[in-house]
Amino acid sequence: STRIVLAARPHGEPTASDFRTETVELPPPGPGEALLRTRYLSLDPYMRGRMSDAPSYAPPVAIGQPMVGATVSEVIDGNDTGLAPGQLVLGQAGWQTASVERADHLRQLDPAVVPPTTALGVLGMPGFTAWAGLRNIGRPKRGETVVVAAATGPVGSVVAQLARAWGCRVVAIAGGPQKCAWLDEHGITALDHRAPDLAGRLAAATPDGIDIYFENVGGAVFEAVLPRFNPFARMPVCGLVSSYNATELPAGPDKTMVFLGSVLRKSLTVRGFIQTEFVDQEPEFLAEVTPLVADGQIAYLEDIVDGLDHAVEAFRGLLVGKNRGKLIIKVS
Ligand code: NDP
Repeated sequence: STRIVLAARPHGEPTASDFRTETVELPPPGPGEALLRTRYLSLDPYMRGRMSDAPSYAPPVAIGQPMVGATVSEVIDGNDTGLAPGQLVLGQAGWQTASVERADHLRQLDPAVVPPTTALGVLGMPGFTAWAGLRNIGRPKRGETVVVAAATGPVGSVVAQLARAWGCRVVAIAGGPQKCAWLDEHGITALDHRAPDLAGRLAAATPDGIDIYFENVGGAVFEAVLPRFNPFARMPVCGLVSSYNATELPAGPDKTMVFLGSVLRKSLTVRGFIQTEFVDQEPEFLAEVTPLVADGQIAYLEDIVDGLDHAVEAFRGLLVGKNRGKLIIKVS
């Protein structure tokens, strides 16, 4: 197997020298394990956290170990686990071309229902994050206004489309005219956070204020949202991707008390979450959302990059918005 291992902990933006490519011999699959060939690797913002040894909800990848990640793989040797050769499965091979994995940890995929890459995005961990965070923490009511950024990505695009399906008014924020055009084409009001006066345009687009802000990015988007919160608004804190490469706090003034003042005066609910908290609800998510994806009611964008050797470069782009939709590496 060819694999990419973490060679050093990045300082700021990850660079090529923080990684190393190596070839290893995989052990034969043991009892209950299958040998798999990686077809697609998911690249996700959380991987920046795994490269770091700063405090986190999950332990870091050890130096010299392969980078982790969700994968769509093809069964090569089912090894009496009941998996047939050629079967496609969702697993956790990480950044490598082949893997040996426990069969009871794999989800079998049926390409006749939806394309298998959807298991990494709209119908995978990111889509589930959107559904679970919106439903359990956002708790949308019909007619409310929902704002979400990174809105062409797998989390944000699902938040926007579910909120609309659940009867809300949606304002989606994305970087650049191309991404905003994709949202427009799907009937979602879009604002470009890279164009001037986001705060003014957001105020104009949210005449009734904001009831739910699904926080994916932090930074300037959050600052534009803060004055628009309605009393009893909810803010599921899902991610803060604008800060993942940061090496120091932003320049002052410190706005903590402005934020807490709003939380107090407007009785805001600010609640962080990691999607694994809601893992019991995953079957319900798949049952509800798979048909919506299969019949096109929920649209999704995928940015598929060819070759594991492009993973580092593609991952660097993910944290600065160069990806157009769910970022996936086609491994083989
Ligand atoms: P995306 O595919 O949406 O990629 C990240 C996007 O963030 C970029 O494409 C870019 O979009 C946007 N972005 C980057 N920098 C900035 C910035 N400075 N200001 C505004 N936007 C920026 O990623 P995902 O959909 O996979 O993830 C979205 C968020 O959800 C991330 O914060 C991630 O960490 C979080 N997450 C949290 C989980 C949890 O359990 N809590 C689970 C999964 C994801 P654009 O060009 O439109 O600005």
